[in-house]
Amino acid sequence: MGDVNKSLKDIGSFMKLPGANLFITSTEQLFNWAKKSSLWPLSFGLACCAIEMMATFSSRYDLDRLGMITRASPRQADLMIVAGTVTVKMAERIKTLYDQMAGPKYVIAAGSCAISGDHYRHIYSVVPGVDWVIPVDVYVPGCPPTPEAFIDGILELQKIIAVGKTSPTFNASTIENQKNLLSEVNTKPIKKSENVIESKFIDKDELLSFILQVKKEGFNYLKFITATDFDNNLVLTYLLGNNEQNKEVEFNIKVGEDLKVDSLSQIYVGADWQEREVFDLFGITFNGHQNLKRIMMPDDWIGHPLRKEYRMDTHYYPYRPTRKEYEKWKTEL
Ligand code: SF4
Repeated sequence: MGDVNKSLKDIGSFMKLPGANLFITSTEQLFNWAKKSSLWPLSFGLACCAIEMMATFSSRYDLDRLGMITRASPRQADLMIVAGTVTVKMAERIKTLYDQMAGPKYVIAAGSCAISGDHYRHIYSVVPGVDWVIPVDVYVPGCPPTPEAFIDGILELQKIIAVGKTSPTFNASTIENQKNLLSEVNTKPIKKSENVIESKFIDKDELLSFILQVKKEGFNYLKFITATDFDNNLVLTYLLGNNEQNKEVEFNIKVGEDLKVDSLSQIYVGADWQEREVFDLFGITFNGHQNLKRIMMPDDWIGHPLRKEYRMDTHYYPYRPTRKEYEKWKTEL
């Protein structure tokens, strides 16, 4: 590994000639020296680690002395510091930004979330490491890494560039390893729940007439609609408020096997997005909703993540893309 503190005089020789100075080196060494001394990182962050990254870029640590100037456009950046948790939704954007960056380009995965998904690696919405999506050159551990650790990672990258190693590195973990690792995660068997609260239940066929009645009584504010999966016996819970009288009414309905319930979106404007959320995460259809489509998960997502039958430890399709599918992105522009 080359010495990161190499200056121009260390990579060649100066000669004093009559009337001029001559500097002799190889173009490869000169370009590597120039590249490592002018890393321009893309200015973006994903989660808590990004706060620490911002501190690293503050005047106290003076990264300008390393030739680093953050850029607001990927077209002008050649370093991506991935700081924070990489969600499935964000992974696609990260890949797009990476593709738009100028080459040769480098990636630092900063923090245990970016490296491996950390505490969230088995959650349906998190990618277990950004190297599933783009190649990574340097990994900086920590939760979050300190500014000193960030700087250490940058110096490591400079060493790699100084010796002309521009080919990206990959995580050694294979798909098989990942599968074995994930199969070790035990899911607790779900115990049949006996205690579904039977009180305050109304018949789902009476929902609209009941709602119109309570609205007339001054319950103008729909506080929430949410669902609970009692071992595939889905129950919807509604909370309505009467702000003038400071009163609330809460009630439940059993969704039934057809998973269909009348929409309240024509009666309460706020029901629009709340019903979309329940549809997205539980798969309950609201009859009469004008725009019933996913609100949190991507449109082509398969399954409903808050249903008990949804296996959170399952990393393979259809629950979330496989490593192979992510790897394919690396070769696709
Ligand atoms: S590694 Fe820790 S600090 Fe960084 S994004 Fe994850 S949880 Fe936040």
